[in-house]
Amino acid sequence: MKLDVDVLRYLSKDDFRVLTAVEMGMRNHEIVPAELIERIACLKHGGTYKVMKNLLKYKLLHHDSSKYDVGRQIGVGKESDIFEVANEDGTIMAMKLHRLGRTSFRAVKNKRDYLRHRSSFNWLYLSRLAALKEFAFMKALGEHGFPVPTSVDCNRHCVIMSLVQGYPLVQVKQIQNPEAVFENIIELVICLAEHGLIHCDFNEFNIMIDDDEKITMIDFPQMVSVSHRNGQMYFDRDVECIFKFFRKREAGSLDKELAASGFTQKDQKDIQRFFEGELDKDGDSESNNEGSESDDEGIAVDRQIKWLHELNTDGIDSLALSNQPKRIPESEDQNP
Ligand code: ADP
Ligand code: MG
Repeated sequence: MKLDVDVLRYLSKDDFRVLTAVEMGMRNHEIVPAELIERIACLKHGGTYKVMKNLLKYKLLHHDSSKYDVGRQIGVGKESDIFEVANEDGTIMAMKLHRLGRTSFRAVKNKRDYLRHRSSFNWLYLSRLAALKEFAFMKALGEHGFPVPTSVDCNRHCVIMSLVQGYPLVQVKQIQNPEAVFENIIELVICLAEHGLIHCDFNEFNIMIDDDEKITMIDFPQMVSVSHRNGQMYFDRDVECIFKFFRKREAGSLDKELAASGFTQKDQKDIQRFFEGELDKDGDSESNNEGSESDDEGIAVDRQIKWLHELNTDGIDSLALSNQPKRIPESEDQNP
């Protein structure tokens, strides 16, 4: 069917709203998941879906099969989207779609000449390696008794794993037994190192905790071997992240106790202003953070490329864990 231009005359405010939502989603999605469109458009009573159906009918939207229309989206990471999916028996699992380098590579490319010699790194290729590495590590770690999601399958840039019944630590307001949880987490990072591995992104976003305060570690594409030349630094950084998180939490709960003692928020603000005023007089320069954002992007890209090289040279197979699954031979998986 050809586009019926007459339709354009009768588009409603909601139609435009949904089209704009699709456009916004296209910033970092080749195919924008319906769920995301709904979240951006935010129309009442499932209105977005009704509007989308209409727009589809008049060819103002294109629907690319059903592969992205899965269950609810349960997570959006910096480098992935996580959805709830089900198999034929109705078992609910988690699907992680890697999109490594998709946004950060493009952003960097626009800003500087970073990728001059790396034009062959396309995001799907990088994401596929990330998925493969994540799957291999999850499987090996699970087989060695580490608390990780159960690996189910991996294809191209997609990993299927068991659904963790819990929340990222960062979202949990109150921990009943902070000492025990802290100890478990530190033990985990040490046990990993004893097995020759460093997580490299071990923090409150990648540690899930359930109602019984049981810990599950997720997100493995950036893991390295302890023999990595910067191994010590990565390990220390992982440990420091945990210390920092719990220190902050402890300070947080102390805050509440202080508030209960009659030391009010206003008192706190007043005294804070006083201290800050003093600091300004001393010519405090900490607030000068100019340029840090683009540097972060640079670091992200460097990190991605660094582990890509590791993957190619060391390979997953040579890491300390045994029983590693074989890599998918290049030829089997080339064509989408
Ligand atoms: P990224 O590499 O983009 O950071 P993560 O693997 O950390 O991706 O996942 C992002 C978010 O998705 C997590 O913080 C968590 O909330 C959710 N998530 C990831 N894996 C699972 C899982 N197996 N079960 C439940 N939620 C998950
Ligand atoms: Mg993460």
